[in-house]
Amino acid sequence: MSVVKTEFSGGILYVTIDNPPVNATSRAVRIGLLAAVEQGRDARAVLLSCAGRTFIAGGDMGEFDSPAQAPDLPDVVAAIEHSPAPWVALLHGTVLGGGLEIALGCAHRIATPDTRFGLPEVNIGLIPGAGGTQRLPRLVGFDLAVEMATTGRMVDAKTMLTAGGIDRIADDLQATATALIQNLPKRPSPISARPRPEASTKTIARTSVKFTRGAKAPMHNLEALIWSTKTDFTEGQPRERALHLKLRQSAESRALRHAFFSERAAARPAILKGATGRETTQIAIIGGGLMGAGIATAALLAGYKIHLLETSDEAARAGISRIHTLLDGAEKRGKISAGRRADLRLSSSADYADAASADLAIEAVFEDLDVKQQVFRRLAKQMRPDALLASNTSYLDPHDIFMGIKNPGRCLGLHFFSPAHIMKLVEVIALDETSPETLATGFTLVKRLKKSPVLSGVCDGFIGNRMLAAYRRAADYLLADGALPAEIDTAMRRFGMPMGPYELQDLTGLQIAYASRQRQAGSRPASERYIPFGDQLVEMGRTGQRAGKGWYRYYEGNRTPLEDPEVSALILAGADNRFQFSPDQIIERLLAAMINEGARILEEGIAASAGDIDVVQMLGYGFPRWRGGPMHYGDTLEHLPEMMRALAAQSPGSWQLAKKFKG
Ligand code: NAD
Repeated sequence: MSVVKTEFSGGILYVTIDNPPVNATSRAVRIGLLAAVEQGRDARAVLLSCAGRTFIAGGDMGEFDSPAQAPDLPDVVAAIEHSPAPWVALLHGTVLGGGLEIALGCAHRIATPDTRFGLPEVNIGLIPGAGGTQRLPRLVGFDLAVEMATTGRMVDAKTMLTAGGIDRIADDLQATATALIQNLPKRPSPISARPRPEASTKTIARTSVKFTRGAKAPMHNLEALIWSTKTDFTEGQPRERALHLKLRQSAESRALRHAFFSERAAARPAILKGATGRETTQIAIIGGGLMGAGIATAALLAGYKIHLLETSDEAARAGISRIHTLLDGAEKRGKISAGRRADLRLSSSADYADAASADLAIEAVFEDLDVKQQVFRRLAKQMRPDALLASNTSYLDPHDIFMGIKNPGRCLGLHFFSPAHIMKLVEVIALDETSPETLATGFTLVKRLKKSPVLSGVCDGFIGNRMLAAYRRAADYLLADGALPAEIDTAMRRFGMPMGPYELQDLTGLQIAYASRQRQAGSRPASERYIPFGDQLVEMGRTGQRAGKGWYRYYEGNRTPLEDPEVSALILAGADNRFQFSPDQIIERLLAAMINEGARILEEGIAASAGDIDVVQMLGYGFPRWRGGPMHYGDTLEHLPEMMRALAAQSPGSWQLAKKFKG
């Protein structure tokens, strides 16, 4: 069946693209559109619309790995633009990338009020390739085009109308188009033939400052937009196309495409194929501290009915007040209106009987096995025997937490990240007994919270925190071999992490990892190298930023980490070696440790794929997306296995090589 359908009626050619799910500009669509241009040559007008929930929402990313196949999109857009019959684009949903470029080839554009427009190529390391950076600024002006192409953010129909990007907003596209055709206005000159827009030096300067670090695609987009101000379309467009095609092969674009596909795949794990989740509407959240309040806020905003359980009425009130503070923030950020906020369903108490009607309980009490076990025993007594039970534990083994609970197929881990109302990642933890239905329900819930689920098996720290521990251990080895925290943090920022490992520990507090190390002290192999600095700091009361001192010191009310001679002295006095490390050596060692741990996690079957691990690191730990996550990045480093073997041989107590790297 053709993905581009045409119908001639009353001198008008009606062209409909039907290429689910998002009417991407795949080759068949491009061929169909070129044929439609031919077919419509003598029409009075050609009406272009899309079936389904959206107008064309971009290119077919599956085609990006291979050389471009004719017909090329720029030729299709040019054919539409120069067609003897004027084309009218009827726009709805999200008009993105190639979709917007096709719309810009049309003589007229009419959109429904809720249509959104964007050039998201930057999000996958590209610039538009079919005139987007040359036509859009000629139509809506330089500034708006820069905003759209360098950030990938969408703008609404009103913004487009005001900027002259569309002719009209209308609820009934067909009726409005019919009226327009009956009284066809003079055909505007093709956008490609319009005068060059004026560049704003202020916008160029501001944008350049904003994107000095990290991904390169935003600056490539800016560069291409500047061409539109300096050259004719006939010169600018081929330059844009050439850069677009070159960038498709770039490491950055490959990494970002990998990130995109991995996120999508992580949300639909193979083992859940065929499993259907249960409908959930009411959630009991146990513990209204930092995490419980964040989880409750996310769930309220997603429309769930929430009951918060705490240790006393007073603690319950404190939890509710924490949630309201977070909701105030959500209201300020426009995530919820004051009107809708009044409809949120939130209650609290210290009585577990109040959890009886909930479909699901999410526990976020202290990280203490006894406390968590008691909580679930009490919940199991009050709740339906099939109600789902989830723990947000960071490091404890959920098998221990749920020991003795009847019907264990309903138990799972839901590991949120702090701040839980903002962070996108949730590790969905499968115990040996967890049923597919329970997992499927967990996945559906996480998606409803507008978060990204990743499946993880059980191990100490699950996927993310286990890798974080390996990364931190490797950083500690560097300290013991002569580096200082600030050198390590600076190097990792340079790589693209939002923060180095020591600044981050200061921010989140040193105690949880300390407690975890204490717990493991007995089971740590004697051959493993132990670095005492982190424990010494906690024992000195240097527990992080909140205490005013940790790996760094802080002036009151100021979050800037300042190097502290006391810490440097402690490290230098206790270090085993005084080697010098270059920033590149620091980066390599830390990444090697992280990648090795990821490979072990994969070999043990804790993670289902390397892509899942990358998603965890990108969404939970700020690993730069434009590097594609540690596993993808590791695959691009040819010398990595050899380097790991050398490190492991030098210091056997610090390295347990994954099979993959043993050689
Ligand atoms: P928190 O100390 O801020 O909050 C814990 C809350 O649980 C307190 O309000 C306490 O009154 C309440 N509580 C204790 N016992 C209870 C009981 N029997 N019944 C009801 N309420 C009880 O702790 P947090 O940082 O929110 O951590 C909670 C859990 O989430 C821990 O398991 C932690 O490991 C995990 N976690 C924390 C983070 C983080 O960054 N803080 C991230 C992921 C997971």
